[in-house]
Parts: sequence; C-alpha cells; structure tokens
Amino acid sequence: MKRELTCIVCPRGCALTVEYEVVDGKVNVTQVSGNGCKRGITYAEAECVAPVRTITTTVRTTADHVVAVKTAAPIPKEKMMEVMEVLARVRVEEPVRIGDTIVEDILGTGVNVVATANI
Ligand code: SF4
Repeated sequence: MKRELTCIVCPRGCALTVEYEVVDGKVNVTQVSGNGCKRGITYAEAECVAPVRTITTTVRTTADHVVAVKTAAPIPKEKMMEVMEVLARVRVEEPVRIGDTIVEDILGTGVNVVATANI
C-alpha cells in the first residue's frame, strides 16, 4: 500500500511517499521516498505506525483569564480531541508559572500538560 504525507518535522515540508504493508494487523513501512533527510523516514514510520502530536492550547483560570499550555511530550493523535475536551473544562488557580503542571498524566497517556506562560 502507498500513502502520501507531508513531513512536518521542519519548515521544508517534504512531500513523502510511504510504502507499507499490513501483516497481522501491524503496519510495516517498507520504503520512504521524497524525504530531504533521515528525519523524514523516522517521521513517516511514526506517522504510519503510531501517529503522535504535541498539543498547544489554552486553559482558563478561576479568575477567568487564559493561560497557554502544551503537552510536555507528543500524545497519540487519536486522543487529541478527548484531550482538548478535558482541557476545555479545566480551571486552574492563579498564579501559574511556566512549567507548572496543569494536568498530570492526561487521560492515562503518561504525559503531563504544562503551562507555557506566566499569569
Ligand atoms: S524530510 Fe527532513 S528536510 Fe524534509 S521536511 Fe522532513 S525534516 Fe525537513
């Protein structure tokens, strides 16, 4: 099977062509082309086998301000919407400092959501 992807690792945005097979329900990448560097291969493999994303968004404080947050590491792409729903309900006490943990182990992903701004 074949899949076209745009590499998002750097601004060059290489158009990748990924060839893969599915054996016993597992995706096995057999060839990647169009990549300008090796990171494109790593990205293509991850995107086809277990896609992940870092989420950046905001949450509200109890004083009704907003503060920027992000996942401290990428999380499974299929959990993105659920994570956004959880964060939409979060109300955090001020003050908040960069690096503060806002939600620990969000949805059991093992990844914390941390503040990226002070308020
Ligand atoms: S393949 Fe390499 S050069 Fe191309 S977008 Fe990805 S990281 Fe950048």
